Amino acid sequence: MTGGFRSRPRMRRKEAEHTAGWRLWAAWVGARIVAWASRLAGRGGSSLPGRVALWLAPDVVAAVARQTVGGVVLVTGTNGKTTTAGLVAGMLRTAGRRVAHNRSGANLLPGIAFALLEAYRPGAPPDTAVLETDEATVPRAAPLVRPRVVLVTNFFRDQLDRYGELSTTVRYVGTGLEYLGPGGRAVLNADDPHVAQLGEGVEAVYYGLEAPVESGGPLEDPGDARFCPQCGTELVYTVRRYAHLGLWRCPGCGARRPTPQVALVGFEEAGRWLRIRTPAGEWRLPFGLPGVYNLYNAVAAVAAGWVLGLDAQTMRDGLASRAVAFGRMEGIRFRGREVRLALVKNPTGFNQVLAAVASDPRPKTLVVAINDLDADGRDVSWLWDVDLETLWPRARAERWWVTGLRARDMAVRLKYAGCPPERIAVCEGSPERGVLAALEDEGADPVYVLPTYTALLAVRRVFEREGAVRPFREG
Ligand SMILES: [Zn+2]
Repeated sequence: MTGGFRSRPRMRRKEAEHTAGWRLWAAWVGARIVAWASRLAGRGGSSLPGRVALWLAPDVVAAVARQTVGGVVLVTGTNGKTTTAGLVAGMLRTAGRRVAHNRSGANLLPGIAFALLEAYRPGAPPDTAVLETDEATVPRAAPLVRPRVVLVTNFFRDQLDRYGELSTTVRYVGTGLEYLGPGGRAVLNADDPHVAQLGEGVEAVYYGLEAPVESGGPLEDPGDARFCPQCGTELVYTVRRYAHLGLWRCPGCGARRPTPQVALVGFEEAGRWLRIRTPAGEWRLPFGLPGVYNLYNAVAAVAAGWVLGLDAQTMRDGLASRAVAFGRMEGIRFRGREVRLALVKNPTGFNQVLAAVASDPRPKTLVVAINDLDADGRDVSWLWDVDLETLWPRARAERWWVTGLRARDMAVRLKYAGCPPERIAVCEGSPERGVLAALEDEGADPVYVLPTYTALLAVRRVFEREGAVRPFREG
């Protein structure tokens, strides 16, 4: 019982490899045909092609991820995923790597599968994959890709109807960290106690802010996040950046903010350059996005870049060339008007976007487009947690246009916040019509448009039709 007997498992393995190769090829072709057909039908999207690929080859994600020599970077957390993942992907491209990257919030398994396949050529897999990953998808994605880096931005109460409590979300990501690949690292926000706690028992690199930074927005109530994740005692802060992010410690169990290896330590030229401390020295890096939340995104990206072995010059070029992520304060010229587009999806994000709007001193027009479809979250009661009382006067908008399926909820919310009714224009229903009405009204420029996710897709179609923005792939 030697030769013949032993050769059988070998044959089976060969067969299995052959099947996997064949299936991968089928998934690759299938996803491309479906993507091409949906583009012809005028429906961009990576969800359907990704679903078809997963149906043709259920192991497609693992099969492509295994072949990337540079490994897989998963980027997760409540806010800042898209921007941070975009920054990391931009740096890697600057370094000459061929990168698989799900660009525009396509962060569930089908979107991930399609991103990997899109960068795949038979015999030539992508070098590295940077995958923005929904928190609840992390426990499914991590075992498939065995990540080299899991980057966690922050944890906020988000889309409660989908995730339930904060601790559930933290647990999802914690489970994912158990599947770090060999030599893999967690890149964690030291300033968020709920993220920092994930560093126990894994190889972690922490990042945070150490420069004097004010959010410009209100210090909103951190809600449940103000309690220690270890012992439940209320946390104490020497500095709070916003919500529950800052220099924290727990008087109950002694847990405290870990010292970050990668930290923002200062600015030059009114914030156009960031000074970032890394274990490889202090780097001076360009950055142009507004808001404290974007400083966190920048430092997070630099921390991941450092873990991936990128040098200062590569990061400098990568950050400088980086266009603003989809829907994250994107600047658009449309019919001669200056439009800025920023996604809003939860109270913290909305507060931060309004703080960024308030940092622009010009009088302006604001358009808020609230939808309540599945991708937006069905429950719009989160609008009541936005600090509009403080922020509507600071935003200096001559007029607030409210549109979308839940325009009336937003209008009521604004009125309760003290905004005079004559400054509010309601255009209920399609966000396209609402945005066009606001733009045709010839009020103050610039026009800031703040939509929820599906409203953003709708609004962007208005600009795409006239060539003001390039089409993108939706989730
Ligand atoms: Zn504690």
